[in-house]
Amino acid sequence: MTPIIHQKRDYTLHPYRLSDSAQNTLLNCERRFQIDRLLEGSIRKEAQTAEMVRGTAYGVGVQIYMWTGDMERAIYETWLAYDPEVEDPPKTFMAKTINNLLQSREKLDELRKSYEVAEFNNQPAIELSFRLNLDTKWYYVGYIDLVLRSKLSGLYGVLEVKTTGNARNDLTPLYQNSGQALGYSIILDQIAGADQATFETPYLVCRDLYKGWIPDVQIFPFKRTLMDRFKWFLSLGMDLERLNNMLALNHFPMRQKGCLAYGKVCPHFGFCSMTATDKYIEAPEDKSEYQFIYNLTDVIADHVRRISI
Ligand code: SF4
Repeated sequence: MTPIIHQKRDYTLHPYRLSDSAQNTLLNCERRFQIDRLLEGSIRKEAQTAEMVRGTAYGVGVQIYMWTGDMERAIYETWLAYDPEVEDPPKTFMAKTINNLLQSREKLDELRKSYEVAEFNNQPAIELSFRLNLDTKWYYVGYIDLVLRSKLSGLYGVLEVKTTGNARNDLTPLYQNSGQALGYSIILDQIAGADQATFETPYLVCRDLYKGWIPDVQIFPFKRTLMDRFKWFLSLGMDLERLNNMLALNHFPMRQKGCLAYGKVCPHFGFCSMTATDKYIEAPEDKSEYQFIYNLTDVIADHVRRISI
């Protein structure tokens, strides 16, 4: 029998990019992660869905309103950010997104009473970006919605703005253990100072009801410690080790739990077991300018030092 020789990746190429959403795909089904992110001929589209456009546009409106308190300007920026104009009525469309922002005003004013937008380099700390170099093959990037400072306690925090259509009564389990804001909080060291051991990662969630015009807007005031953050970096290091094993063995396991994730059939269903034609893509050079750049090993060593003091 002739063995099938799979093409292995040339490690002299640019590293692959990871993010919170890539990591979520990885933890749901490694084979899907491989097909979507690493292989040629992926059917994963870069094109935006209506939910993604809605999420971005709403997030921009929240950022502007939190910073300026000017709802007219926030609506204008939301309208501008609703691009491309992908709509999926009656669930998700531009007018509804703008209405969601208007309906969020009360909660946003509540937030503005307790928090102010922090500054970095004399600019509002909005949409800051960071790059975390993991090793020669992988790096992780994140974009922070907003950095806030509590007017009462002086504690800093990373605000995550989320939109969802999830119908559960209690949305807490959807966000409480999310590592996203935890990992992103690494930038607080440079904004708030490295001696801040406790910080906040509040979530502002706008739940869009299917046909209704009054969204359910909630604030989840989660608090975190340096130890929580350290564990997040450790976990990322473990994921990295597994990733590199999978690459070395050219085996990314198929996980049934991903086949019907979020109520949708995976687009690779029926084809993902065919590996003979797998061919790795070359990662493009990332020319983005990140405001913060770190190395994972330095970050872990720094946290070990600070936790043991
Ligand atoms: S169909 Fe299922 S096993 Fe196959 S790639 Fe998608 S999630 Fe993974």
